[in-house]
Amino acid sequence: MDINSAQIEAIVKEVLSGLGGSSSSKPAASGNIPATSRVAMLTGIEKVEIKEYPIPEIGDDDILVKVEGCGICGTDAHEYKRDPFGLIPVVLGHEGTGEIVKMGKNVKKDSAGKPLNLGDKVVTCMIFKDNPDITMFDLNKQNVGGADVYGLLPDDETHLNGWFADYIVIRKGSTVFNVSDLNLDLRILIEPCAVLIHAVERAKTTGILRFNSRVVVQGCGPIGLICIAILRTMGIENIVAVDGEEKRLDFAKEMGATTSVNFKNHSGIEALAGAVKDAFGGYEADFAFQCTGSPVAHSNVYKFIRNGGGLCELGFFINGGDATINPHFDLCSKEITLVGSWVYTLRDYATTFDFLKRAKGIGLPLEKLITHKYPLSQIDEAYKTNIKMEGLKIAVINE
Ligand SMILES: [Zn+2]
Repeated sequence: MDINSAQIEAIVKEVLSGLGGSSSSKPAASGNIPATSRVAMLTGIEKVEIKEYPIPEIGDDDILVKVEGCGICGTDAHEYKRDPFGLIPVVLGHEGTGEIVKMGKNVKKDSAGKPLNLGDKVVTCMIFKDNPDITMFDLNKQNVGGADVYGLLPDDETHLNGWFADYIVIRKGSTVFNVSDLNLDLRILIEPCAVLIHAVERAKTTGILRFNSRVVVQGCGPIGLICIAILRTMGIENIVAVDGEEKRLDFAKEMGATTSVNFKNHSGIEALAGAVKDAFGGYEADFAFQCTGSPVAHSNVYKFIRNGGGLCELGFFINGGDATINPHFDLCSKEITLVGSWVYTLRDYATTFDFLKRAKGIGLPLEKLITHKYPLSQIDEAYKTNIKMEGLKIAVINE
């Protein structure tokens, strides 16, 4: 069947309108911009103070964004608990999004070449102070691990440099994306989803992950759940989720897993590997994603994979200690192809926008990942909920 471009346009419009984009929202008139902005400044270990600073005049290359919301990342919770990055005092929040309320005269387009206007909804990714003209097309290889990011910058003279605030000043050299066609919840999920887009791109380099692969996803926190959703949008339908919480396994099925295995129901790795094999109808997995930070889970995951299969390890965002494997049985004799994955590139960021639309299009309930929402004034509660590991994604939403 031939579909002409008018039909395609109509379909695109229909899908986009279902995404709750910003076409109906009015840009804030600059007269409505207040003189000051609140920020949630981390001033000590487990100590957040709501401070108020003047909103500065913005430069010709800057953008003033009214923050709508921002997710709490594991990184934020670590910094709140122990200051491992030595950033205090700092305004945290890097999973943020908001509306452009003021722009310098030189700002015309986002980092993907899309026009930027007052009222557009944006997210930021990396900051390149030394190379402000860089765009996503130059950045296949630049991993965010080596770049500056809003929300992880030391406090400076403007103070408005983290997303846990009413306003943020986006400065020259920042990568900014116009994501007006995504609703607020999906925009808050962009950053964690980019981590998984990157992992799946890494997995694809093995040549083993295919349309009809049997894939096991170990760990059903936000990372594993998003992984399952991405695999599903790629047309991979034979997905087994492994976790120890029945609630999370149910959620994994909502995200697209075919079956699930609760490791608590099986004692010993042999029984567990047997259960995973049974879940695939008597076959081992072609490919595995390891999405927990547990060394034991890393040791176990090899047992789920067939000879000649593949593995993507992405659970160790931070150093979780050493894991033991048997190189003969686990890697060599099985000829496993192993890739590691960490954070993302700008290219992955742009791919993520398409993933979110496609996930929505096939009815995956990604927004349900955001289980808790707090106003900025209750950010302390939000951190504590995150640390208690209640729920999945915790977000701060500006009232
Ligand atoms: Zn993050």
